[in-house]
Amino acid sequence: MNTAAWLLPCPGCAAMNRLPPERLDQAPRCGRCHQPLFQGYPLALTTGDFDRHALRSDLPLLVDFWAPWCGPCLTMAPHFEAAAAALEPRMRLAKVDTEAETALAARYGIRSIPTLVLIRSGRELARQSGALTCEQIVAWARQALSGA
Ligand code: ZN
Repeated sequence: MNTAAWLLPCPGCAAMNRLPPERLDQAPRCGRCHQPLFQGYPLALTTGDFDRHALRSDLPLLVDFWAPWCGPCLTMAPHFEAAAAALEPRMRLAKVDTEAETALAARYGIRSIPTLVLIRSGRELARQSGALTCEQIVAWARQALSGA
């Protein structure tokens, strides 16, 4: 097993890129479509591409489970977007619309929204319910990752 390189799915074309972790900070681009692997904002994940980022990627995934009718979710949305710019490229941020993606919401037993779930290689490291500010999201995620 090659432990030097990380597997990193491209958000654009879905190609699995192999990347030494030290190259994360060098604005890496996809080897296939040449788009930047990090663009400073959360991905919108569906059942079709969730596992690629949650299970097959070596990069920790921070998911915001939300719904369009949820006031606190909409309040938190710009904070989560800003947190993506702060936390990338150490983790990938993504949003799952629980109204549209009911299977994913059920799989993670989401009972209240917004709920943040931090996942690495398919394993849940931490979760947190309720709206947070950008600073709180960044602090919580870093703490959760370092304690894992
Ligand atoms: Zn690509």
